[in-house]
Amino acid sequence: MTSISTNLQAVRARIRAAAQACGRRPEEVTLVAVSKTWPAVAVREAAAAGLRAFGENYVQEGCAKAEALAELGLEWHFIGPLQSNKTRLVASYFDWVHSVDRLKIAERLSAQRDIHRPPLNVCIQVNVSGEASKSGVAPADVAALARAVAGLPRLRLRGLMCIPEPTQDPAVLAARFGVLRTLRASLADEGLALDTLSMGMSHDLEAAIAAGATMVRVGTAIFGERQRA
Ligand SMILES: *Cc1c(COP(=O)(O)O)cnc(C)c1O
Repeated sequence: MTSISTNLQAVRARIRAAAQACGRRPEEVTLVAVSKTWPAVAVREAAAAGLRAFGENYVQEGCAKAEALAELGLEWHFIGPLQSNKTRLVASYFDWVHSVDRLKIAERLSAQRDIHRPPLNVCIQVNVSGEASKSGVAPADVAALARAVAGLPRLRLRGLMCIPEPTQDPAVLAARFGVLRTLRASLADEGLALDTLSMGMSHDLEAAIAAGATMVRVGTAIFGERQRA
């Protein structure tokens, strides 16, 4: 039996080593703990161990936890597929959305975000794996979507997110993460500066950090194996 705080120490050590290996500062990488499928009590334990940012994939489940743990003042990140009939809940309970992949969703989130709260932080999810993946906008369409999203009043466009297809090949993984880094650089050249690259999970956070990740989304390595996917 390992505890969340023991696991967390190991994950932080991996982040530190990965950052140092490529000459980056570990503080440049924010750890988002992916708590999907885990009960509020596990999130409470992780918060007690020092985690502040939590990622959820399922709207109802995430909102229920955010509400149950409201007094802890945690930061909630929506990282799953988002349908337009669920945007209102996400706009009210979450601080970040990593999975924006079309303008309609972004427009709804902006329209539904309470004007008394800070703008909702968003990332555009990019399909870096071509045919091998369905979710995310194609790299060629990122610039147009980013410009449109950046113009929405109640959103703050922070960056780009990706989930590469499962692969054992380090060269493929590096290439996938590299797509995101290159896109961010070309947006910056156009005058659209973004501070976030959300990439890297339990099994590939080292490769993501080497490619410039500023946010890693880690579930299994902190909470253990999930019962359902
Ligand atoms: C589940 C999930 C994660 C965390 O995956 P682990 O392999 O458990 O670290 C990260 N990002 C997204 C989008 C996820 O759905």
